[in-house]
Parts: sequence; C-alpha cells; structure tokens
Amino acid sequence: MARYTGSVCRICRREGDQLFLKGARCFTEKCAFKRRATVPGQHGPEQMRKKPTGYEVQLRAKQKVRKTYGILESQFRKYYEAATRKDGNTGVNLLHQIETRLDNVAYRMGFGLSRAQTRMWVTQGHFNVNGKACNIPSYQLRPGDTISIRENSKVKPQIKDALEITSSREASSWLAVDREKLSGTFTALPERSQLDPKIQEHLIIEFYSR
Ligand code: SF4
Repeated sequence: MARYTGSVCRICRREGDQLFLKGARCFTEKCAFKRRATVPGQHGPEQMRKKPTGYEVQLRAKQKVRKTYGILESQFRKYYEAATRKDGNTGVNLLHQIETRLDNVAYRMGFGLSRAQTRMWVTQGHFNVNGKACNIPSYQLRPGDTISIRENSKVKPQIKDALEITSSREASSWLAVDREKLSGTFTALPERSQLDPKIQEHLIIEFYSR
C-alpha cells in the first residue's frame, strides 16, 4: 500500500485534533486546524453534525493514533496482534510497541521537528543505535538502548536548524537526553500515565476485536 502523499493538515482536520505532523508550523497561528477545525470536503460540516456510530468512534480512535505516528494499516494491525500475544494490558502493550519505534523515540528526544522528518533522517542513515548505524524507522528499542546522531550528520545544515528549533522542547520523562553529545538513552518502558492521555486505546482494541 502506498504512503499517503496528500495534505497532512487535512488529516488533522479529519481526525478533529492537532496531530503535530508538520513540525514548527504546528506551533504557529498558521496551523490549518487552528484556522479551520472542520472536517474537510464538501460534506464535512454535515458529517460533524451527525452522531457517530460505535464503529465510527472506534475507527476514528484507531486512525488518529495510526496517523499521528505515521504507521501503515498493515503494520499497525501487526502491532495489535503482537500486543494480544503479550502478558498484561493489550492496550498498553500496543502503545509500547509504537512508542519504542526508533523514529518515534528519536523524535521524542528532540532530534527532528516531526515524526515524518525524523523517519526520513533515520532512513537516510543519520542515526546510530548503540554505536552502530541503523536506518530502520520501525526498529524496536529496548530499555538501555542509546541513540545518537552520527558525527557526519551533526554538521548538516537542515539537521542543525531542526535541532536549534527543538532545543527548548522537553524530552519525554522516560528518556535521558544529552543535547551536547546529541545522544539519548531509552531508560525504561513508559508507564501509561507518561503517555498521551487523549489516546483511547480501549477503543482501538474494540475496533480490531470486532
Ligand atoms: Fe496539524 Fe500541524 Fe497542519 Fe496544524 S499545522 S493542521 S497541527 S499538521
């Protein structure tokens, strides 16, 4: 399946929330969602007035998370299936799977303006994991793993510019970041309370277990 190449701001409007897909622009008044928070398309406003069915509520909860993290449907379903095979709460297991992806952790450490940009830089080989090059965005990190920006990449203008903008951004509490060395350690799996409270993982589980 091809990756979505349309306007990413339409995704935020479709999901009815700011998903922060565009980097610095998302924090300005130019944000399309701040200017027009309606469902896109000719029948968008009409759709917003209708009461959603239970299925639609589950679908939107799933799509919102999937699109926030930029994961294709087939991969997202695999994460769900893997989460059901693990011990513990399936919803939290699912969130752990998507949170521990290399592209997401690097983004949360402030090494990219958006998940899409960070993923592109991972693919282009700008990151090391535990001192070795890794260009797989979906690579699953484990507690204790260290990410760093490769020496040659630190001087690239687009990376330097992005790092300057993210320098004031605080990394997630389950990560330890060294901005001087441009490296960070994934210290521990996050508790549910450390993750986005707006995610309704129980609806995602209900969607897949219909
Ligand atoms: Fe979403 Fe960012 Fe576009 Fe705003 S600017 S609509 S948060 S992608």
